Amino acid sequence: MKLHEYQTKQIFADHGIPIPKGWVAETPEEAARIAQELGGPVAIKAQVLVGGRGKAGGIKLARTPEEAREVAERILSMTIKGLPVRKVLVEEAADIAQEIYLGITNDRAAKRPVVMASSEGGVDIEEVARRSPEKIVRAHIHPLLGLQAYQIRDLALGIELPREFWSSFIAFARALAQVYQKYDATLVEINPLVITRQGNLLALDAKLVVDDNALYRHPELEKFRDLDAEDPTEVEARQYGLSYIKLDGTVGCMVNGGGLAMATMDIIKLFGGEPANFLDIGGGANAEKVARAMRLILADPKVKVVLINIFGGITRCDEVARGILAAMEEVKPDIPMVVRLVGTNAEEGRALLQEAAMETATTLTEAAQKAVRLAYGQ
Ligand code: GDP
Ligand code: MN
Repeated sequence: MKLHEYQTKQIFADHGIPIPKGWVAETPEEAARIAQELGGPVAIKAQVLVGGRGKAGGIKLARTPEEAREVAERILSMTIKGLPVRKVLVEEAADIAQEIYLGITNDRAAKRPVVMASSEGGVDIEEVARRSPEKIVRAHIHPLLGLQAYQIRDLALGIELPREFWSSFIAFARALAQVYQKYDATLVEINPLVITRQGNLLALDAKLVVDDNALYRHPELEKFRDLDAEDPTEVEARQYGLSYIKLDGTVGCMVNGGGLAMATMDIIKLFGGEPANFLDIGGGANAEKVARAMRLILADPKVKVVLINIFGGITRCDEVARGILAAMEEVKPDIPMVVRLVGTNAEEGRALLQEAAMETATTLTEAAQKAVRLAYGQ
């Protein structure tokens, strides 16, 4: 789950990370009032869950409340990378002397979180990594010892941070590591962390991504969830307990089990097709669940064929087949389906489907080949 900049900044402030003073607004009038209250030049920033808002025109400065109203009006009518802007953050404009980067993410290879810092702040860190990888310095966080002061000093040295800022930088990095751990984050990022002309360090941008699998440990974050900003089919799927990720291909997949879903996608690609989605319907493929999953898949206009791949373990395949048939009755899809059932009572299940003139397959290879052929209209 991604948090908005203004939400992340609230969390930062609670942990002693300095942020510019400001509030969030939903209307141009509110933005003007906030600018009035702040009483100086302000930055107006689109609150959408994508990066590169600056380049897209979603971040502008305004000198007066009147200008803030105009700018906010313009930004609030924008759509950035497909996401409508519903809120703007209005905050005191910073007087920037230097922009640096500070972030923490998981380093899977090292099996530890890694802190990254760079003197090249304000630009995409991926771009820095490509163009001048030597400009990124790293320190891994020991799971028991935590981030040590000497490691942060190493980072400060690595980005050639002037000495006078070291103590604030150490506090910054420590607080950021605390946020990362406390919220079970997979990414926390300040880009840019600025040095102002007045000589302060300030988190000008803020990004926090929390591991979805840890959300149950953070009920306090529930209020931060922005359903508007997420893919509506993925939101619907989550409500029904289905794991669904939309992709770009034409072969819709309905599978029980995450590993089997991945194997199914792999084999579709092996035979030259492209999966339209990842979908794990979980255990117990009853008619209601199959129908819901089918509606989700069919909502995607690119889907040309649906491959249903079910492993019957505790759930018996004949029950699954009845579920599929009942769901077909209800949803009445007008594109071809291929069903592969394997496991307990697979014979009975297949017989039921064949009676109803549905395309079945015994092996996954056969199922994938049939589905790919149908996707290409052969
Ligand atoms: P992003 O483009 O979505 O990453 O949004 P950021 O919050 O990082 O802002 C992008 C850039 O806008 C920053 O790197 C700054 O150069 C500039 N910017 C943002 N806020 C201010 C501000 O208060 N004052 C000034 N002068 N520039 C700002
Ligand atoms: Mn940024």
